[in-house]
Amino acid sequence: MRVTAVEITPVPREPSPDPIRDALQALPGTGSVRVVVHTEEGVSGSAEAWFGRIRGAPEALAALIEHELKPLVLGADVGQVRGIHETLLRETEYHGSSGLAMFGISALDTALWDCLGRSLGVSCGKLWGRVHDRIPAYAMVGWLNYTDDEAQRICAQAVDQGFRAVKIKVGFPTLKEDTRRVEVVRQAIGEGTGLMVDANQSLTTKEAILRGRAFQDLGCLWWEEPIPADDLDGYAALAEALDIPVATGENLYTAADFARFLRRDAVDIIQPDLRRAGGPTALLQIGLMAAAFRRPYASHGGDPIQMNVMSCLPNAMYLETGLLHPGSPLKLVDGCVPVPDGPGFGWE
Ligand SMILES: [Mg+2]
Repeated sequence: MRVTAVEITPVPREPSPDPIRDALQALPGTGSVRVVVHTEEGVSGSAEAWFGRIRGAPEALAALIEHELKPLVLGADVGQVRGIHETLLRETEYHGSSGLAMFGISALDTALWDCLGRSLGVSCGKLWGRVHDRIPAYAMVGWLNYTDDEAQRICAQAVDQGFRAVKIKVGFPTLKEDTRRVEVVRQAIGEGTGLMVDANQSLTTKEAILRGRAFQDLGCLWWEEPIPADDLDGYAALAEALDIPVATGENLYTAADFARFLRRDAVDIIQPDLRRAGGPTALLQIGLMAAAFRRPYASHGGDPIQMNVMSCLPNAMYLETGLLHPGSPLKLVDGCVPVPDGPGFGWE
């Protein structure tokens, strides 16, 4: 089943004038690129790469896919999706496979798996072999720019919707402000709800150890990305010094990056991102490698793709999502999201 056409559509969006913020950056949302692969049999598969920031990103990525990646996919056999992934990595090496190129590789890899699943009439999870039928989910809802009142209200709303854990941003200028935020959110969600904290790479290693001990005393479930994502030595020091699990991975690229962290015992919970890891092919490789190291997998972002991947991982721990909106296909049952059953990455 050969690829006969690749449709690439940039979908730019006017950045929000009132963006959400974490300790590192504002995330106004700047749109996406939609990719559809078509085959000679008439089966197609689709993907969408989203941008939290970077004005002009949809047009830049669309051009990169059009001129650099699409020629490598046209005429290729969809059944050899892992081989196509290897080719895309090799051919982008000259200008760097990470960064924007990896967003493109990920989108094509996603569309190709979607196409293969659809051609066989099964979900990708079933194609790969499932372990789970549902995945526990938590809501990432406590942005740093919210007032305490806003953070309390939205975290309580997540609990009302059925989430059994919520995550909030920390990384305020002082430890005192961070612990105050945790305490006010705790008042809103009660003792029975899990609470994770995320500083988005904003601290020094020493400060991260100090704050990590405080969050540990406050009963937080994990301490996410406290220091810059590429600081392997720093993460090894954190994991050694702290009992609270250290989570990272949304800004790592490829399985090789994760292998370095796992070999050094520098991470307790891995959090791969679909776009930066390199698509479902890479997520599966990373997830199963972490399973061999007995490290849990918590997704960065939640969608049918992460759901299908996690359904196949014995170490799947938590799906990340936001509040549930009316009409969302994502449903909660006992704090878990049932794994989608539609062909490819479809929901039904
Ligand atoms: Mg994070």
